[in-house]
Amino acid sequence: MIVLKFGGTSVGDAEAIARTGRIISTRVDKGAIVVVSALAGVTNALIGIAEQAAKGHLIGAIRAVEGLRERHLEQAEKLLGSDANALEIYGELSVMIDELAHLAEALATLGDLTPRSLDAISAYGERMSSILCVAAFCRQGIPASHVDACEVMITDSTFGRGEPQAEEIAAACRDKVIPLVRQGRVPVMGGFIGSAKGTGITTTLGRGGSDYSASLFGAAVRADAIEIWTDVDGMLTADPRVVPNARLIEQIAFDEASELASFGAKVLHPNTIAPAVRLGIPVYILNSRRPEGTGTKITFEAPRRAVSAIAGKNKVSLVKIGSPRMLLTEGFLRALFEIFERHRTSVDVVATSEVSVSLTVDDPSSLQTIVADLRSLGDVSVERNRGIVAVVGSAIADGGEAMARAVGALGDVKVHMLSLSATGINLTMVVDDDQVKPAMQRLHAAFFGEAS
Ligand code: ADP
Ligand code: ASP
Ligand code: MG
Repeated sequence: MIVLKFGGTSVGDAEAIARTGRIISTRVDKGAIVVVSALAGVTNALIGIAEQAAKGHLIGAIRAVEGLRERHLEQAEKLLGSDANALEIYGELSVMIDELAHLAEALATLGDLTPRSLDAISAYGERMSSILCVAAFCRQGIPASHVDACEVMITDSTFGRGEPQAEEIAAACRDKVIPLVRQGRVPVMGGFIGSAKGTGITTTLGRGGSDYSASLFGAAVRADAIEIWTDVDGMLTADPRVVPNARLIEQIAFDEASELASFGAKVLHPNTIAPAVRLGIPVYILNSRRPEGTGTKITFEAPRRAVSAIAGKNKVSLVKIGSPRMLLTEGFLRALFEIFERHRTSVDVVATSEVSVSLTVDDPSSLQTIVADLRSLGDVSVERNRGIVAVVGSAIADGGEAMARAVGALGDVKVHMLSLSATGINLTMVVDDDQVKPAMQRLHAAFFGEAS
């Protein structure tokens, strides 16, 4: 079996969905299981609707809901025309859009947006795209069957960041997914969405989570491969939107791909690698607009290079805790990290000195309360306008030449913090937020040459 995941642009409109169907046709014999994202931009639109409605701007929210109705029905009509089951699909999509409008009304009345209602609303993107895609694939002659992802992707009840429950997911796959594959059918599910164990309430895996859905399903069915189909040729030496001459990496090791994903290479959700690596399932990144390309293979056996790629991310907060008295006393660091754990906030980069600890966090939602708790340990300062650039490669630390080149390449870009991962494959530097882009460009030029 193989799991194929198609991102938003790969199902963005009728033409893209048809292209995706053609790719799936070539994999039916391999036991394809398909995961689709919402149509490109729809999750952003849904979040906008929820926020607008909760602020009481109901007319704007309903207008946006109607925009989604038009978009989905227009693409459905292009794909299905007057097919026998087309009316049924138009009906299903319309019912979902009506539900969405009711949810927006309820939010406007309540005037409050909880993570639970945000998940309920943002799940409609994948719920609609999966219904639409199945009908389109069937019309192309693919024996596709819709499987409700909420019945398979079982999570805990952390809304907005549901924690997948591996045993329950595996059991649901045995029940609802694998039998279809055995009958020669192609199960199609929405990515990103799930439901809470015990209650069945809709949850999501967090933004960009369809990649994670694919690897969780892949692990649950013990797939032979997981294919992530997207809008670029594979994992590149940098984000091509920042470095237009970034090059394709044909093979990369799991650990390096994982570091790149965690430090801004949006092409892969950071959690995607873990379920695959546990079972040694290779992950491929491929371009749905150019299916003939080789893509990137992520595996254990990838060649080792000094530097494989550069990544970067914005909107990072740098937290500094100074405690001349207590630092390095027993239990200090434990107490410090317990505070972050209690607020379920993960720390990305850490550096310590004799009298201070600096660390970065991605998710600032609990920062205010974290800082209040940290004050019991020492003086605390927060610098919000920071970003991170990361140089990833298996031999960065060998000999020091690559590290010297990385630091040298940054020139006058101010570095607030520098850290080499314990595995020695990731050199991260905290810079001003507006310097992330030039820093990535300089690092890329230093390691991979200037744009030709
Ligand atoms: P999808 O909707 O298919 O999940 P995403 O937009 O989430 O696609 O991810 C693909 C995008 O990731 C690319 O268009 C590219 O701009 C960005 N990206 C960031 N870093 C990299 C990288 N190192 N290699 C390839 N793409 C990258
Ligand atoms: N549609 C979701 C998002 O935009 C999940 C995904 O595309 O991976 O975040
Ligand atoms: Mg994505």
